[in-house]
Amino acid sequence: MTAQVSLFNTLTRRVEPLQPLAPPRVTLYTCGPTVWNFAHIGNFRTFLFEDLLRRWLEHSGYDVFHIMNLTDVDDRTIKAARQAGKRLVEHTAPFTKAFFEDRDYLRIRPAHVYTAATEYMPQMIALVSRLLERGVAYKGEDGSVYFAIAKFPTYGRLSQLDKREIKVGARVASDEYAKGDPSDFALWKKADAEDEAVGAAWDAPFGRGRPGWHLECSAMSLEEIGKCCGVQTLDIHAGGIDLIFPHHENEIAQSEGATGQPFARHWVHGEFLNVRGTKMSKRHGNFLTARDLREQGVDAAAVRLLFFQTHYRQPVDFTDEALDAAKEGVRRLGEFHERLQKTGRGEKGEVLSGLAEKLEADVATALNDDLNAPRAVAALFDFVRAANRELDKPVPPPATARALAAFERVTGLLDLLPTARAADPAFVRWVEERIAARAQARKSKDFKAADAIRAELVAKGVEIEDTPQGTKWRLA
Ligand code: AMP
Ligand code: ZN
Repeated sequence: MTAQVSLFNTLTRRVEPLQPLAPPRVTLYTCGPTVWNFAHIGNFRTFLFEDLLRRWLEHSGYDVFHIMNLTDVDDRTIKAARQAGKRLVEHTAPFTKAFFEDRDYLRIRPAHVYTAATEYMPQMIALVSRLLERGVAYKGEDGSVYFAIAKFPTYGRLSQLDKREIKVGARVASDEYAKGDPSDFALWKKADAEDEAVGAAWDAPFGRGRPGWHLECSAMSLEEIGKCCGVQTLDIHAGGIDLIFPHHENEIAQSEGATGQPFARHWVHGEFLNVRGTKMSKRHGNFLTARDLREQGVDAAAVRLLFFQTHYRQPVDFTDEALDAAKEGVRRLGEFHERLQKTGRGEKGEVLSGLAEKLEADVATALNDDLNAPRAVAALFDFVRAANRELDKPVPPPATARALAAFERVTGLLDLLPTARAADPAFVRWVEERIAARAQARKSKDFKAADAIRAELVAKGVEIEDTPQGTKWRLA
């Protein structure tokens, strides 16, 4: 049984019931990180709303096939590799690894497939060939291959862009050479010296070069849904709102230009994480990475709660106060969880059972309605308040089994219970890394540095003891 999940569809600008091609299967493609550097928590706001979407679909009985790409070849990765004096893959591999670590820290469910662009060259080359054969692509005078948007009449439908209004914007401009029409975009860029220097050039029948960023997502998603499900249409395609144009618009043009089938039935886009009203981004320098938060000892549950308190289609402004409030919220959930676990051998559980039923019904109604996480979170805290009032009443204590089950299902779905830090592998790694750094400082007689590290550990509640067998640690 699948419940009625509704989602805002950017294609129609309406909240619509999700209607997968072949329920209960849902194919979900989410544009992943560009692994030129560490992802920031703005990127993770998008990945977290997608995580909740995936979890809610699964909870609702859908069988989700989730694909996420890793952009490991594009302008940014090539430039960063060049600056680091490395080969492309050598530069991106550690950032891919870091992305997976950050994903695990934030308790994001792994996608079923991660597609690294550099591993799909044959599919990308085949897609370009197909578009050339169909006459919707052409080779420019500069040797690059372009998509002719004049040959694709519905171009601009997703972003509701009238063709005359298409501005030659920043990302379009970077493809700006020798094109038939200034709005045409590059499918395949002729290799230049920089591409060759970092190993970002591949042979193709239409010339040695490298894929354009937009092409990558089309080729990889079509390959994967073809392989898994024998289809050419995604049920859901998601990303941040900055991807609507030109990225997703171009993905549609390329994919539909090649297959003649609708590329995605449902387009879902999340709003930005901002800092004082400005989009968090590397370019603005106003960013924070997941590892920054982890090193500050921030529980991932607090980050999740912070983001889920706002609807995914509303901007969130990141502040320390908001994060502190979320930490406090998570602490309250943890405390309440313990309380429920400890009480509850009595008979009179009707009130709590009623509250539990209401909690689950409210959460379902909220999430079915365009993934309204803030309403689900509000229902959770309403439940905690009402149940605490019940538990405060004099004897006999009510039976809590039903309440505990509902509370654990909802907090498990949103994944909001505090981490037992001693069991958090990321935290343990951090502690061990600091202890090793301290040992190193002591070895080189830098006692000031060693003391500073000890203080850093103490601030996170870690006590250390130097023994003949080495330094031991425990949580205070
Ligand atoms: P990128 O690594 O730049 O390819 O971006 C990965 C994902 O992060 C995309 O879905 C972007 O839309 C999203 N993204 C980038 N910046 C932000 C932000 N400040 N808030 C929310 N999502 C963002
Ligand atoms: Zn994409």
